[in-house]
Amino acid sequence: MASSQTSFRTWAELDKDALRHNLAELRRHLSEQVQVMAVVKANAYGHGVEWVVRALRGEVEWFGVANLEEAKEIASLASGNAILVLGPALPEERAALVEGGFTPVISDFEEARAYAALGGKAGVGVHLAVDSGMGRLGVWETEAVELAKACQTLRGLRITGVGTHLPVADEDDDYTLQQMGRFRSLVNELRSMHLFDGPVHIENSAGAIGFPSDAEDLVRAGLMLYGASPRAEFQEKLLPVLQWKARVTLVRSMATGRTVSYGRTFVIPQASRVATVSVGYADGYSRHLSNRGAEVLIQGIRCPLLGRVTMDQIMVDVTAVPSVVVGEEVVLLGRQGDQEVTAWELARKSETIPWEIFTGIGRRVIRMNAVR
Ligand SMILES: *Cc1c(COP(=O)(O)O)cnc(C)c1O
Repeated sequence: MASSQTSFRTWAELDKDALRHNLAELRRHLSEQVQVMAVVKANAYGHGVEWVVRALRGEVEWFGVANLEEAKEIASLASGNAILVLGPALPEERAALVEGGFTPVISDFEEARAYAALGGKAGVGVHLAVDSGMGRLGVWETEAVELAKACQTLRGLRITGVGTHLPVADEDDDYTLQQMGRFRSLVNELRSMHLFDGPVHIENSAGAIGFPSDAEDLVRAGLMLYGASPRAEFQEKLLPVLQWKARVTLVRSMATGRTVSYGRTFVIPQASRVATVSVGYADGYSRHLSNRGAEVLIQGIRCPLLGRVTMDQIMVDVTAVPSVVVGEEVVLLGRQGDQEVTAWELARKSETIPWEIFTGIGRRVIRMNAVR
């Protein structure tokens, strides 16, 4: 983590208080006994996994990661927390996963048998993933009891949790309610047959926000912790954790008829002041923002992006900011004065989702603590 912004071309300022605030809002929204798994896959949604784990390790019960590499990355930092690996492991990753003490998910008997063989005397605890409509991993819901029964015959394996995933918790409430109802019946059946012992988890951010009373034992929260709500009604409760900035590297006057950037897609309509800014698509400022009404903030004023985003630089219209100087701060994502560019705004303008905006923020973007 860097400590001074003065020499950076593009950087992200991270606010620990905002992260903890968002977690507190989630807890307030849920029943008291519901546990929280902070999902920190993909470098904690681009926020810097070390920073996020250090900030939350005393505050959440679980961390969720995508794969073995990510689990190993946080193992020593998050020693007080359980770590669930959300995706299926490759066969050659399983031994290290068990040795690391991480919790894998299983979808079929072949995975169960492989983990059982690695379980030794102590046995390995796994979570049974159930496919109740996501179609990505898990045993299909009508075959889950059969698989859990088969697992009971395996020495070296215990089912220590059961989970499923919601594909439309922010798009289709009827489907989501039906899906959760079916899953709850299945869990009751598994429980009555003593086929597992441990937490039941269903909900991502959208699920936890939209259906707090269906949370069961544990929610797996990602996006909302970082301050973007997948459901509009909760957005006002959350604070953005990350602000993304760059700097003005040049300011020039451009006459009517001159063109800006590759493809010459933007023609200067009348004499303008144009600033060049030190960020590009290689930093994660998407090329899909080109000619889509994207704006950056300079001195609290919205300045339109001109022409195409290039690899390392963008050009913006600063005619409305006559006092702009080289070196000045440019806000790509975040607040300046009374203006704010949100991850949702960038996502809509580049036809994607805030998850991709955050995870797309590149390696050249220095992560640092926000100065309050
Ligand atoms: C990524 C992920 C989550 C977190 O989703 P958000 O929408 O970011 O809250 C939860 N569960 C699983 C299985 C995931 O892969």
